[in-house]
Amino acid sequence: MAWDFETDPAFQSELDWIDKFVREECEPLDYVVGNPYDVANDKRNALIKPLQARVRDRKLWACHLGPDLGGPGYGQVKLALINEILGRSISAPIVFGCQAPDSGNGEILARYGTQEQKDRFLKPLLENEIVSCFSMTEPQGGSDPKVFKTRAELIGKEWVINGEKWFSSNAKFASFLIVMAVSEPEATPYRRMSMFVVPADTPGINIIRNVGMREGSEGTHAYIRYEDVRIPEDHILGGRGQAFEVAQTRLGGGRIHHCMRTMGQIRMAFDMMCERVLSRETQGERLADKQMVQEKIADSWVEMEQFRLLLLRTAWLIDKHNDYQKVRKDIAAIKIAMPKVLHDVASRALLLHGALGVSTEMPFARQVIDSYYLGMGDGPTEVHKLTLAKQILRGYQPSDDLFPTRHMPKEREHAFQKYGEFASLTDDEI
Ligand SMILES: Cc1cc2nc3c(=O)[nH]c(=O)nc-3n(C[C@H](O)[C@H](O)[C@H](O)COP(=O)(O)OP(=O)(O)OC[C@H]3O[C@@H](n4cnc5c(N)ncnc54)[C@H](O)[C@@H]3O)c2cc1C
Repeated sequence: MAWDFETDPAFQSELDWIDKFVREECEPLDYVVGNPYDVANDKRNALIKPLQARVRDRKLWACHLGPDLGGPGYGQVKLALINEILGRSISAPIVFGCQAPDSGNGEILARYGTQEQKDRFLKPLLENEIVSCFSMTEPQGGSDPKVFKTRAELIGKEWVINGEKWFSSNAKFASFLIVMAVSEPEATPYRRMSMFVVPADTPGINIIRNVGMREGSEGTHAYIRYEDVRIPEDHILGGRGQAFEVAQTRLGGGRIHHCMRTMGQIRMAFDMMCERVLSRETQGERLADKQMVQEKIADSWVEMEQFRLLLLRTAWLIDKHNDYQKVRKDIAAIKIAMPKVLHDVASRALLLHGALGVSTEMPFARQVIDSYYLGMGDGPTEVHKLTLAKQILRGYQPSDDLFPTRHMPKEREHAFQKYGEFASLTDDEI
């Protein structure tokens, strides 16, 4: 009977090492390194590369990968426990070689790429010598890929790409972009698009602007116009019309990995809230002594722990089935839960910190905005709710008459048929 909520001591000592390393080495980096995705930045490399070497020495590099690709093959449960620590810092996932979107892009290159694509793009990506970009969303809509217009035409031995993409994160740092484009306009909606690996120095990739997430912040989400971008015929990733299948492989892992890292942000907001309410006094007592504050602590803890357990169970299911499709329902559920828990816990932490909480000196306002992004990126919450409900309902049957199967008069009648002789007896007669 295996139903275990404990981490084994050997792995716990790895987690303790990671926790200390992230606290002492990675979290301070976030203030000085600039953008950790900027692999051309000398200061970034001087600071990050030695830390990456220490992670490699410890055999914790690229924990999302199996041994065939140079990772330890820990599986998703261990990865969840690691990622909830790494999620506290922007730089930590890069230091540990498991950052988005490179982890997802690496996964599809490993699964669908040709040997040449693997040698040229995957190998340096896994070593973090380069970073990559996933270029799918278009200005007229991201939630519904059926509205995408970017076109890829095979002319002679070259694919020629034309169209616009936006929110292509990290395009300005990337050595290659994975672009989704309509290559089979006559096919059914989910067979119209293909995926392409486009080297970033290909002429015709014109970044119109880089959109930022907060006023004054560096823009890293590129609005790109692809104008007669020519790539060799063999730069297609997967088969013609196979983009949706390839994207699903990428998104299955990507979604739960976001949830894992977000768990780190939720825990951080929760810990800060607890410290604050124990430290702040108002009207003669600590915030922690006020019942309406206690309610906020209790609600936050329950929501956070529910989320964490659902997350770990989903990770466990992925390890068990080794097939994202079989765990689609559970991944949808955890993706739905993530933005709401982050939003609610971060909002309470923000509120209980008063003016300081709203300021840029604390992370809460960013976390609240991030919760909206996390609720729309990789498929909006509304769509995941549809997926989840449909999958759940597959396990049910409609009632065979006007009344519900468990209508009480029906159940009572059944009970009397089964236990009728007892039903008519008094206690004394029994
Ligand atoms: C910080 C950030 C980074 C990103 N990085 C990338 C990236 O690297 N590559 C990339 O390709 N894209 C990226 N995106 C884009 C992201 O994938 C899209 O924002 C997302 O798919 C939603 O598309 P949209 O913005 O066009 O919103 P829309 O598709 O216009 O949807 C808007 C809203 O409508 C509602 N909605 C949508 N569909 C339904 C439905 N079926 N039922 C009910 N309500 C619905 C939801 O509330 C949704 O939030 C990023 C976005 C952000 C904010």
